[in-house]
Order: sequence, then structure tokens, then C-alpha cells
Amino acid sequence: MKIAVYPGSFDPPTNGHTEIVFRSSKIFSKIIISITDNHNKKPTFTVEERKKMLEESIKHLPNVKVDIFSGLLVDYVKSKKASIVIRGLRAVSDFEYEFQLALMNRKFSKDIETVFFIPDEKYTYLSSSLIREIASLGGNVEDMVPKPVFKKIKEKYPKQKCLQKK
Ligand code: ADP
Repeated sequence: MKIAVYPGSFDPPTNGHTEIVFRSSKIFSKIIISITDNHNKKPTFTVEERKKMLEESIKHLPNVKVDIFSGLLVDYVKSKKASIVIRGLRAVSDFEYEFQLALMNRKFSKDIETVFFIPDEKYTYLSSSLIREIASLGGNVEDMVPKPVFKKIKEKYPKQKCLQKK
């Protein structure tokens, strides 16, 4: 039984994130999407909002669960009896940070492996920060995020509502 943790901010989740979840759910027995509750960052969406959006977006995948965590990732991974950390690699620009993170986690625990997934190329330009920026400026992000996320974005950014088709 291989349990994998997919940690991230998911502020908000995008189609890139859910594609990584889908790809990894075919390989590992159980995936726990773990939202980092990082008090140093001021998120746009609360952890509860992000949890709900993710749960609604992955409900068709029976081996995927969503959780919230704070503290050291390796401690959390062990507490879930997991041995794999999933991360996504979009472009070379992600590499340096992800490489550092993976090696740092390995320093803390030799038993945990980081596995990287590469999304479909149509998602490589997507990031949560870009989604927030476009949405706040009134650009339509409907085809970049899962349906439950778009619903929440429309509530958060009234300008988005005006531009909504139909
Ligand atoms: P963090 O603050 O931990 O980087 P993110 O939610 O931004 O949280 O990203 C979580 C993980 O998902 C990271 O490994 C990131 O590279 C990956 N990721 C983010 N957007 C995409 C995307 N469009 N396609 C594939 N992976 C992605």
C-alpha cells in the first residue's frame, strides 16, 4: 500500500493541480492532498474554502482525500504513514526550488521519496497566482480551473461574474 502526500498552497486549485492528482492516483493506492496552513502567507482563500474546492473537484477519484496541515512536511508525511511526496514540475523555473525542497526533505527523512509529475503541456503555464491576478482584473478563468473552483472565484471576484458567458 503506497500512500502519497501532495502538499501545496492550492490558493486556488487549478486544472494543473487536479491533473497531477489524476495522474498520481493511477499509480499510488492512496493520495492525500495536503493544504499547507502557513501563517506567514496571507492567502486569498481560507484553508477551509480550499479544502472544500479540492474535495468537490476530486470527488470522482475514490482513492484521493484532502487534508490540512501545518508544521514540518516530513513529520506530517510520517504521521499519515505515507512514504511519498508528490510535486508538479511545470518548467525549468520550478526546478531549482523543487530540487532544494526535495533534498531538504530527504535530509530530514531518508525514507521519504519525492516523485515529480509533469502536467499536460496545456497546463504548464497555469499557476494559482496568475489565476488570482487574472480573476481580480476581470479576466475569465473558467477553462483554467475546475468547476467548483470557478464557482467560488465568481463569489470572490464580482468582476468575474460580469464577464461570465451567459
Ligand atoms: P506551493 O506554495 O507549495 O508551491 P502550489 O499550490 O503553488 O503550492 O503548488 C503545489 C505543487 O503543484 C508544486 O509542486 C507546483 O509545482 C505544482 N503545480 C502548481 N501549478 C501546477 C500546474 N499548472 N501544473 C503542474 N503542477 C503544478
